[in-house]
Amino acid sequence: MCRKLKAYERRVRPRRVLLIALPPLLVVLGLALDIRAVARSPTSAPSRSTIVSITFDDGSASQYATSAMLGSRGMRGTYYINSGLVGSSRYYMRWPQVHALAAEGNEIGGHTLHHENLTKVDLATARTEVCDDRTNLLKEGFAATSFAYPEAGANSVMEQMVKECGYKSGRGVGNLHGAKCPCPYAETIPPRDPYSLRTADGATNATTLQDLQGSVAGAEEHGGGWVPLTFHGICDDSCTRGTSVSTEIFTQFLDWLASRRNHGTVVQTVGQVMQQAPEAGRRSVALDEPTGAAAAGTVPTPGAATPARQQQPGPVSPSGRPATSLLPSENRLRQSVAEEASRARP
Ligand SMILES: [Zn+2]
Repeated sequence: MCRKLKAYERRVRPRRVLLIALPPLLVVLGLALDIRAVARSPTSAPSRSTIVSITFDDGSASQYATSAMLGSRGMRGTYYINSGLVGSSRYYMRWPQVHALAAEGNEIGGHTLHHENLTKVDLATARTEVCDDRTNLLKEGFAATSFAYPEAGANSVMEQMVKECGYKSGRGVGNLHGAKCPCPYAETIPPRDPYSLRTADGATNATTLQDLQGSVAGAEEHGGGWVPLTFHGICDDSCTRGTSVSTEIFTQFLDWLASRRNHGTVVQTVGQVMQQAPEAGRRSVALDEPTGAAAAGTVPTPGAATPARQQQPGPVSPSGRPATSLLPSENRLRQSVAEEASRARP
């Protein structure tokens, strides 16, 4: 009996010791995790947080009013502007309005001079559309570090061109989880490819409040990350036709989004997210290090930087080499990016 008791004690004692030691261990472990989270917070978001970027394309006039809607909720947006079209008709914002957006803390990004789909124009035109647009924005005093491809028209050559023109990111449309896309719920930080940023489906007049909420909630429920959203017109008269979202849906969404702060979800501009991921550029599609003016952070003069390159027949890599002479890794990259771009295209 006594021997049995001792044997029982031998079996149970380690468990007792563990039970006694476990609570303090958990406290210490919890404190350590807390300390790590606090130490990380000033420079990067906790891994479980969700960051939403509210982006607007084309600089349409209806977007001007959205700055006040965002600002009153402590939010800022990214406005991708076609500098060659600003003030050209009542459809577009005027320069003083674009400056007002920036003065209110919003980001001004590039969207080409004239809203050209870069995959449908020749290389020289594409370069002028991207680089000269950025030059215009810089002259207006904007940092212009973020770019969005008109009509989401992109390929690896265009991505490299956008980089060489001095941008830090290029935003597509789509490739995050949606009705037609069993894709990831969020872009990574740093992004998988900073020159092919993935977004939720672009908002249209068919987009519901639940759709917009679902894009954010989906990320929240699947580990967080970055959810860029794409808007055009915010109005009640289909001011941008099929891509307009009603003022009511937009404001209801912003109210809901503001309430998500309690769940660790915040709103940041594209530039802000990219700034907290400085290594993103090194993981980019970089086929070649930018040379000359691009490396110096200046924008090439249209037509002056690459005359030989522009005379190359057929597809040409941004390095000036014919596409067929791309390194194996470049070819793999081109293939994957081209596939993705074709999926993204509406
Ligand atoms: Zn556009």
